[in-house]
This record gives sequence, C-alpha cells and structure tokens, in this order.
Amino acid sequence: MKSKNSVIIYSPFYNLDLGRHVFPAQKYSLIYDRIKSDSKLKDIEIVAPDRANMEDLELVHTNSYLDDLFSYEHTFRTMYSELPLTRSIIDSFLFGVGGTIQAMKLAKDYNFCFNLGGGYHHSFPDKAEGFCYLNDVAIATKMYQLENPGKNVLIIDLDLHQGNGNSYIFQDDPSVFTYSMHQGNIYPKKEESTLDLSLEPGIKDKEYLKILDESLLNIKMKFKPDIIFYLAGADPYEYDSLGELKISMNGLKDRDRRIRDFSLECDVSTVIVTAGGYAKDPDDTVCIHYNSVKVFSE
Ligand SMILES: [Zn+2]
Repeated sequence: MKSKNSVIIYSPFYNLDLGRHVFPAQKYSLIYDRIKSDSKLKDIEIVAPDRANMEDLELVHTNSYLDDLFSYEHTFRTMYSELPLTRSIIDSFLFGVGGTIQAMKLAKDYNFCFNLGGGYHHSFPDKAEGFCYLNDVAIATKMYQLENPGKNVLIIDLDLHQGNGNSYIFQDDPSVFTYSMHQGNIYPKKEESTLDLSLEPGIKDKEYLKILDESLLNIKMKFKPDIIFYLAGADPYEYDSLGELKISMNGLKDRDRRIRDFSLECDVSTVIVTAGGYAKDPDDTVCIHYNSVKVFSE
C-alpha cells in the first residue's frame, strides 16, 4: 500500500479538434471540468504531463512508421487511422502518451494514477488503426520494464473493443499478461491476448460482472503483477453508438470498483486510462469517465 492514494494526469492539449465526429474529442476537458467543480475532489492532485519524445515512441514503434507519421503522409502505415493526420492531432497523441508515461512514473508513490487521456490500444508498432496513432500503454509498459527489470505487468482492457495492439505487441512476452474483455463480433480483427473474453451482444450488468469476477480470480491464480494498467473504456455502455453490450452506468461503476479492489488485494499500483466512449449522448461518456475518477479517488 502506497502512502498516497490517487493522482490525476491531465493536459488541455489532450482535446482534439475534429468538428462533428463519432469520437467526442472534447471529452478530456469536460471530464476535467467535472472534477474541478466537484468539492469532494478539491484536494486531489492534478499533474500536467510533458509530450512524449521520439525516444519514448521508439520503445514500441518502428522508424518507418514514425517517419510517415511525422511527415503527416498518408501511406499504408498511417491510412488505417480513422482520424485526420495533422500536426495538432499528432501533438495531442504525444501529450496523451506523455500522460500515461507520467502516470506509470507516479505509480511508485500512488495507488491509483489516472490519466484522463490515453488508451490508444489499436495502435501497432508499424501502423495506426481506429482512433489510435501511438500506443501509450505499450510505450509506458516498455519503459516500466526498462526501469524495473524482471517485473510483471498486467494490462486489463475492459474497453468495448479488443486491445489488439497490446495483445500483438506483448504476445511473446510472458512478463506481460494481457487481459481483454470485449464484444466479440465487431472491430477489430482479433489478436491473441493472454486471456480473451469475447462477449455476445446484449449482455447485461449481472452476467458481465460475474464473468469479470471469474476472470480476475483466474488471473490471480496464474499471475502476480507488479503494476497494473487498466483501460477503463466507456463504450461497453448500453447507449453506446458503436457497441451492443448493455452495461448500465451503475454497472460500469461496479466494474471499476472491482478493478480498484483487485488492485488493492494484489497490493500494486494501477495506472488508469480512459480509452474509448461513443455514447449517443456525449455527456454520458463524460459522466462514465468522471464516475471512474471518483471510484479510484474514494
Ligand atoms: Zn473502444
């Protein structure tokens, strides 16, 4: 157990200017505003990250991909992104990655380090995918491994979509356990995680939480993590526009409580990132992420 409970990492540069888009790119500052206006969270520490630098990115990404990315060129490596390729958008990814790195570094002092950005789990070493140009959790994991040789990393990915980038990147690394619970019959093309739970459309809170409980128990018997990364996607939500899981807002709070309690039982620090969220009402997405912040700050 660490002496300090939780810290938030946030930069105003996380926001993207996409105009009308299924990805609510202004969500980061809206979550921040909700936190700032909550008197119960008034004492919580908020840290601003630096941009990730090229050396950080090279821990995961290939030089040829980074060359294409920073030339802002549409090539076979960048074209699978569903976002525009502009300097300001790549810059916001650099801050998001920097935030997850910062959270990982603060994990030695805090139980819960919550990056209000990050969770770009569809990004591969040599290509972009979905809404993901740079894989923050993979980069922070590689950096953690360099700074803490021989330690074990658990990546818990409860976003609606499989964390295919992380599953691929760590497929041959037994010191990284990738756990992804996701809707099975939608994007992306699946990679093999250490533990995949493929869910049917229509699943509701009770069954979802039961499967989560069973898998956490299963992981605990097999693997002893030294740090946990948790992708707390808001998109398993019942009114999400990209998915068909039927998890209520309260169900998602219960999900987060289970990860919080699991981390405390394992007695390790957890880095939380927001990942996806495409609720039909964008305020719901903001509310789900804000609820996550509260669960990990109680
Ligand atoms: Zn997602």
